[in-house]
Amino acid sequence: MRRIKLFIFFFFIPLSLFAGDGDWKQFKSTHFLVYYKSAPEDTLNRLTERAEKYYNDITEELGFNRFNFWTWEERAKIYLFDTQGEYMRATGTPEWSGGEALPGTKVIRTFVTAPDFLDNILPHEMGHIIFREMVGFNNPAIPLWLEEGVASYQEKKRTPGIKAYLAGQIQKKSFMDLSGLEGFYPANSNDREKVELFYLESYSMLDYLISEFGKDRFVLFCQNLRDHKDLRRALALTYSFGAREELESSWKSCILR
Ligand SMILES: [Zn+2]
Repeated sequence: MRRIKLFIFFFFIPLSLFAGDGDWKQFKSTHFLVYYKSAPEDTLNRLTERAEKYYNDITEELGFNRFNFWTWEERAKIYLFDTQGEYMRATGTPEWSGGEALPGTKVIRTFVTAPDFLDNILPHEMGHIIFREMVGFNNPAIPLWLEEGVASYQEKKRTPGIKAYLAGQIQKKSFMDLSGLEGFYPANSNDREKVELFYLESYSMLDYLISEFGKDRFVLFCQNLRDHKDLRRALALTYSFGAREELESSWKSCILR
């Protein structure tokens, strides 16, 4: 998700606060514990089947080797609220948010009727957790666009025509440049159009890095981010971009060609 302020939460709020009220029931699969209130069993079965599938697919798609296994005590926790109202009250997220991840505690929170939950929100939130396991939970070098790009890259349903739309935005000069992306916090914004642009560009940047330079290079980029905690250095070491602006201009020419 859509998390910046959530990072602040997860350092200070004990997990028991989420699990503590006795209304939650628990549903288990190999790598997940689902906490729910009145979701029907077939919803829980479908949810855990998909989550188990994404557990393998996402690492595979990003080229990561898993070294943290989500078994037994290490299972990820999914809190499934009955309604969007309960979800928003508990999480403080804006109305457009369909789910959020607290990567440090491997918690995902969402609600039963969240649109596109199984196809988009679930893999998106799992992408956040798996990416952070790779680059480090407390790594300050990770810009939000990169994090949201990795997460959005996992979504299964895409708006058609993203490239043409972004090309139009670039030509009209109404796209967000990299420093614009870095200074934008979707969780604090109710400007849906801008939020949408932020996510599309973040996705597109990731798609560019992986399709242009390959998965192995992306794994190396993540390792450089993890080891050096410095975006500029990781970009230079991995992709030979001397500055962020070089990444931006080469992404732009790819979109426009
Ligand atoms: Zn996200």
